[in-house]
Amino acid sequence: MHSFAYKNGSLHCENVNLADIASATGTPVFVYSKKTIADDLAEFRAAFAPLDAHVAFAVKACSSKAILNLMAQQGAGFDIVSGGELWRVINAGGDPTLCTYAGVAKTEPEIRYALEQNIYCFNCESENELREINRIAGEMGVKAPVSVRVNPHVDAHTHKYITTGTNENKFGVDITRIEEVYATIAAEMPHLHIKGLQMHIGSQLTEVQPFVDAAVKVLPIVKKFMKLYGIEFWSIGGGIGIVYDGCLESGKPEWWAAHPELITIRSYAEALIPILKPLGIKILLEPGRRLVGNAAAMLTTCIYEKKGEAKTFKMIDAGMNDIIRPALYEGYHEIWPVQEHCGDEIVADIVGPICESGDFQAQNRRIADVQPGEVLAEMSAGAYGFSMSSTYNSRPLAAEVLVDGDKWSIIRRRQTLEQMVQDECLPE
Ligand SMILES: *Cc1c(COP(=O)(O)O)cnc(C)c1O
Repeated sequence: MHSFAYKNGSLHCENVNLADIASATGTPVFVYSKKTIADDLAEFRAAFAPLDAHVAFAVKACSSKAILNLMAQQGAGFDIVSGGELWRVINAGGDPTLCTYAGVAKTEPEIRYALEQNIYCFNCESENELREINRIAGEMGVKAPVSVRVNPHVDAHTHKYITTGTNENKFGVDITRIEEVYATIAAEMPHLHIKGLQMHIGSQLTEVQPFVDAAVKVLPIVKKFMKLYGIEFWSIGGGIGIVYDGCLESGKPEWWAAHPELITIRSYAEALIPILKPLGIKILLEPGRRLVGNAAAMLTTCIYEKKGEAKTFKMIDAGMNDIIRPALYEGYHEIWPVQEHCGDEIVADIVGPICESGDFQAQNRRIADVQPGEVLAEMSAGAYGFSMSSTYNSRPLAAEVLVDGDKWSIIRRRQTLEQMVQDECLPE
C-alpha cells in the first residue's frame, strides 16, 4: 500500500501537497514516501516471520543516500552489484557485513574492497569468477564467503530485458551444472568458504507461480548442499512486481481485493513458506522494486502542447534522462495532474525535451487535458527511476525529496551546471 492520494482536489504524498514541493524545489523532482518504504519493509518481515528470513534491499533499484540510510535504520541488509554500491551503503550508514554481492563481472579492485569490508557473501556467477576470488583471497590470506547463483530455467513471464532465469541469459550457472561447480570449489579452491546458494529469476514478476516453480526445482539441490557443504543460507532473490497500471487505485485495499491474481508480499510469502520452512535454513530475500517502486512519484511540469496531424503531444520538463524505463523496456507509468481535473480527458503522448524519438513517458494515453504550467506526477517512479538517470542532453540530475508525515526534506539538491561539468578538463 502506498501513500499517494488526492485530498481536496490536490495530489498528496502522505500529508504533503505535491504542489507545495514542486513550487519550492522546481521540477523535475522525485518525491519519496518514508511511510510507504518502512511499511513495505515491515510487511516483508511480518510475512516471512515463520522463517529465519532476512531482507537485503537491492541497492540498484534506488541508491540515494537517504533511502539507503532509511533501510539501514530499519535493519535491512543490502544486495549490491558493484564496489560503488558497497561504498554507498557504507557511506549511508549501512552494515557491510549484511551485504551480498552479485554481478557477472566483478573486478579485482572490487573483490579486494569487498573482502576488506568483510561482506556477508559473494554471489558468484561463473567458475572463472570463483577462481579469481579464490586467487585474491589467497593473496590476502583470508577465506572468501561465496555462494553461486543457480539459473533454474524458469520463464518469469516478464519483459525480455529483465528476465534472468533462462539458459539464454548471461546470469548464473546452469542448474544442470551447479553440482559440478560446487564440487570443483570444494576440491580446488581452498580460499573459498561455501556459504550458500542464490537464485534470482527476473524482475517485475506479477504472478507467484514462477517463484514457486523455481523454488521447487532448486529445493533438492539446497538439501544436498546443506548435507555436503553445510551451507547456511538460500537466497531466493528479488523480482516481486508492483502495480504500474492502476497505481493510484492500488493505494486502497478494495482494489487489491478485486485483483486476487496479482502478486502481493503476502501471497508470495504464503506460497513459498511451505516449501522453504521444512529446510530450516536461513532465507535471504532481495527485493528492490517492491520496496521503493510505488513509494515515489516524479513531479514534472507541462511546458507546451503541440497538436500534430495524427497526435496531440504534451511536452514536459522531464526526459528519458530522468526516467528511462519507458524508452528502455517499454515501462509504463501512470501520469496524474497534481491539481485534479474533472471530465476533460484527451488522448495524448507525454514527451520529454530530449532529441530522441524514444523520449516519451506515455504514448496514446488517456489523460486530463493539462495545460502548460501545470504540474504532473509520474507515478511508481521510485525503482529504477533516479538510479538510472543521466545527464544526457546536458540536463543536470533532478532533485529528490523525502516526505515524512506532514514534513518533507530535500535529500538530493538539484545538480548545478557547474557540478555537471566539474570533472571535465581540457588536454594538457
Ligand atoms: C536486480 C536484482 C534484484 C532486485 O530485483 P527487483 O526486481 O528490483 O526486486 C535482486 N537480486 C539480484 C541479484 C539482482 O540483480
